[in-house]
Amino acid sequence: MTKKRLIFDQDDVLADTNGKLVEMVLNEFGIDLPRTAFVHQTFQELLPPADHKRLYEAIHAPGFFADIPVKENAVEVVRELSEKYEIFVATAAMEFPNSFREKYDWLQHYFPFIHWSNIVFCGDKSILQGDYLIDDMARNFTNFGGEAVLFSMPHNRTETVYGRVANWNDIAAKFL
Ligand SMILES: [Mg+2]
Repeated sequence: MTKKRLIFDQDDVLADTNGKLVEMVLNEFGIDLPRTAFVHQTFQELLPPADHKRLYEAIHAPGFFADIPVKENAVEVVRELSEKYEIFVATAAMEFPNSFREKYDWLQHYFPFIHWSNIVFCGDKSILQGDYLIDDMARNFTNFGGEAVLFSMPHNRTETVYGRVANWNDIAAKFL
């Protein structure tokens, strides 16, 4: 039987990119907000305009993608899923050309069992073909032929079209 193809986004699905940004803002931006404020609201909503630019520059700086924490349980669940499914990682890396090496090395470090031929650095994700795409950006589901699964984040909280998962326990419950 052919395995179904599961495609995972990297940032804010495998990697806790938002979590790294929250720590950066709290520790380096001099923002007087509780950590909990960032659970439901976006940086755009919480930060003054000058800090939006600072955040943008931080994300585009060399090294940003090298040390992002991995999401809790992501490694264990992907390893288990890889027994049952064909696993791909697809990341819109073209948005951050500096990031290629860092993103690749990060995947090798945390997910060495995902072969390089199953890693897709892309621009427009509408070229992807698979049975499931798990992503935090609803725009990436446009034209996707399989089932779209939205990984809940503050920036997608108003999306109502797609099924959701909140964490890797939800992914395990849905797919394992
Ligand atoms: Mg993402």
